[in-house]
Amino acid sequence: MDDLIRAPATPRVHVRGGGRFPVHRIYCVGRNFADHAREMGAAVPASREARGRPVFFTKPADAVVVGHEVPYPSATSDLHHEVELVVAVGTDAPHGVLAVEDASALVFGYGVGLDLTRRDLQAEAKAKGLPWDIAKGFDASAPVGELVPAAAIDDAALATLELSLTVNGGLRQRAPLSQLIWNVPEILHELSRLYRLRAGDLVFMGTPAGVAALSPGDHCVAMLGEVARMECRITPAHV
Ligand code: MN
Repeated sequence: MDDLIRAPATPRVHVRGGGRFPVHRIYCVGRNFADHAREMGAAVPASREARGRPVFFTKPADAVVVGHEVPYPSATSDLHHEVELVVAVGTDAPHGVLAVEDASALVFGYGVGLDLTRRDLQAEAKAKGLPWDIAKGFDASAPVGELVPAAAIDDAALATLELSLTVNGGLRQRAPLSQLIWNVPEILHELSRLYRLRAGDLVFMGTPAGVAALSPGDHCVAMLGEVARMECRITPAHV
């Protein structure tokens, strides 16, 4: 049967060395760095044993921005940056819960991105016990840089990399990935309890402290060590 309408195309992220990665879903982890949980006024687990379950939320696949221009969103006056490691899933997971030790085999590659957040709407949602969707899952809320194939970075090397964000040349956020409360295999395991991971899924792994407001004209450079990079400019709101 032919499609009866023309819907937007599946978003695709560039891959270093050539080719593109079609995006299926975007999962995000909240409160995965203790210093950021603290700055947001959330409780920080006393130990790994006491960390409970991760906080997850999602963004639509077409929230991905692969170009350099990110329009300032509607309905907010407090757009925040959250620099994050982005994990790209390259293989469908089997049905059922994925063992931590089997998780790395699903990873296609890594990149760096921004979990852009309407912080004012998120604060209001938290205060009222409402969902975070309008604060997190808006159009163009997920700028992502080029993906680097996982073959180029082993798990031990990944943990030593530093995540950083500069805005207009000034350092805003910086932390080593060794500070993640849940590492990549642990997050894929936890997600697999809730969803079937599929080829094309992206996972935003959570942000360190230093989140702050962005304005039109701001120039952002996010880095994952010297391995991956994402650059974008916040442009005026669409009218
Ligand atoms: Mn985040």
